[in-house]
Amino acid sequence: MPLEHIGQRSVFHEIQLQIRNHILENNLKPGDLLPPAAELASRLGVSQATLREALRALEALGILEIKHGVGTVIRAYDLTPLLESLSFSLLFERDNLRQMVLIREAMEAGSVPEVVRQISDADLRELEAILEQMAEADNPRDLERQFHRTLYRCLDNPLLLQFIDIFWLIGHNLADRSMISDVGKGPLWEAHAPIVETLRARDANAAVQAIHHHFDGIKYQLNGWQRDGTGDGTRDRTRGRTT
Ligand SMILES: [Zn+2]
Repeated sequence: MPLEHIGQRSVFHEIQLQIRNHILENNLKPGDLLPPAAELASRLGVSQATLREALRALEALGILEIKHGVGTVIRAYDLTPLLESLSFSLLFERDNLRQMVLIREAMEAGSVPEVVRQISDADLRELEAILEQMAEADNPRDLERQFHRTLYRCLDNPLLLQFIDIFWLIGHNLADRSMISDVGKGPLWEAHAPIVETLRARDANAAVQAIHHHFDGIKYQLNGWQRDGTGDGTRDRTRGRTT
């Protein structure tokens, strides 16, 4: 029986490889259609049921979209499915999470000088409005995401914004599982207000420092998670596996 399972998996793998090759060789673009399922199945020499399963796996990876009544469409490049599964595995690996915070810090600190040059007055006013809400909101979690999306959107880099989203999602999940505590509104405002101040002053060096200062707070919070009882690694893993 195990041999049969391996065989089935390699059939899926082979179908997926061939479909990827078909997309590349025919230079298919987002929105283009794959050949109809019956034709694909016969060209690949597999049953339509097997083909459908392989297509569903590619859909889960964000490569294709199966539209009923239309066909199988090539999707625009989108990191979301990949990042969502990444965030799930990160929930159980504290070291990964720590590494991801460092990557995000490097990414934001590296990008902020260009923001200083490009950000519009309208975006600055919006950041200030978000700050005001941070100081007042009882549950300011979503404001943190809004802040960073607004901060970097002038760079016109959707991948950077997606990365911010997924990081926010991870934090959200951890807080829901009481693995880290939510940041209160005071500390949240204090972490973000200096960033806006440096942007207003159009001071790139100070902006980089303000970003590092912001992440110092997050790293402190993560260390606390590893230090205190809520972040006991063994228990987290057990909890993760049983849910
Ligand atoms: Zn932040």
